[in-house]
Amino acid sequence: MTDLSAALQNTPRPQNASALKNTPTPQNASALQNTPVPHSARALQNTPALQSVLTPQTTADTPPLQRQAPLRKFWFDDVPPRDSIAAERRYRQERLAVAFRLFARYGFDQGLAGHITARDPEWPDHFWVNPFGKHFSRIRVSDLLLVNAQGEIVIGEGPVNQAAFAIHAAIHEARPDVIAAAHTHSLYGKAWSTLGRTLDPLTQDSCAFYQDHTLFDDFRGVVLDTDEGARIAAALGERKAVILKNHGILTAGPSVEAAAWWYIALDNACHAQLLAEAAGTPQTIPHDVAALTHEQVGRAGGALFAFQSLLEGLVEAEPDVLT
Ligand SMILES: [Zn+2]
Repeated sequence: MTDLSAALQNTPRPQNASALKNTPTPQNASALQNTPVPHSARALQNTPALQSVLTPQTTADTPPLQRQAPLRKFWFDDVPPRDSIAAERRYRQERLAVAFRLFARYGFDQGLAGHITARDPEWPDHFWVNPFGKHFSRIRVSDLLLVNAQGEIVIGEGPVNQAAFAIHAAIHEARPDVIAAAHTHSLYGKAWSTLGRTLDPLTQDSCAFYQDHTLFDDFRGVVLDTDEGARIAAALGERKAVILKNHGILTAGPSVEAAAWWYIALDNACHAQLLAEAAGTPQTIPHDVAALTHEQVGRAGGALFAFQSLLEGLVEAEPDVLT
């Protein structure tokens, strides 16, 4: 027997619940105040702020708490539509720049790899993208490049990542409903991609991707031409995500917010399944429940608001992102 387990066995313990009930307890707050406390705790009790919590005072100046008319509200207010091309463009640019800053915070910034694109609202075969070599944590709206269907930069100085054009141009062309697409070499997505499998419905969160992502099993080195981009787009089909075997993960959505949030969520789902399989044999969610949960947690509206909750804190901490 170890010293620790011997010590534990010798610790006096209550025999049962009734013994616990017989333990003397302070009868009221004044009894509590009389309980001997360590010096530091007594010092805390003497601070005005804590005193006011310990002995709340109701005075004539304290307004009574008024309840509002009962309200049922289980969803968010809709984001109002932008009323001009310029406003829509600015909206997408701001969220795109914020998405890069968020990706840096999540650690999705391995080397020079990674790109998020947003379709331009005026020229739908053009998209906004990050300049090659600029760290995600430093990207501002004014750094974004506008690239045309030939891969030429028409606004901004560049350079542009050739793989970003090869992959994203094909996806934007194949999927008119896709406003934004995101791809980096984030650690857990990349690690999961080596297994050559799609994710199982293991958790409520991972059900966002249930029957809504696929595997691209044709790695041929760095993607440099749009033919390979087109094959990735074909594999993606109408889904929201694709796992690029031996490479990483990619998401696409009807808004910058959706594509970016789904990327964060997909990397998290890869992480969760890697942990679960390393620890044991995970139990999957049955098909009917997984399909229902996908409808509940996999919608673009939910992704938009998940992203919005991250955007507010980031812009407050790093306001230069919008410059
Ligand atoms: Zn890549």
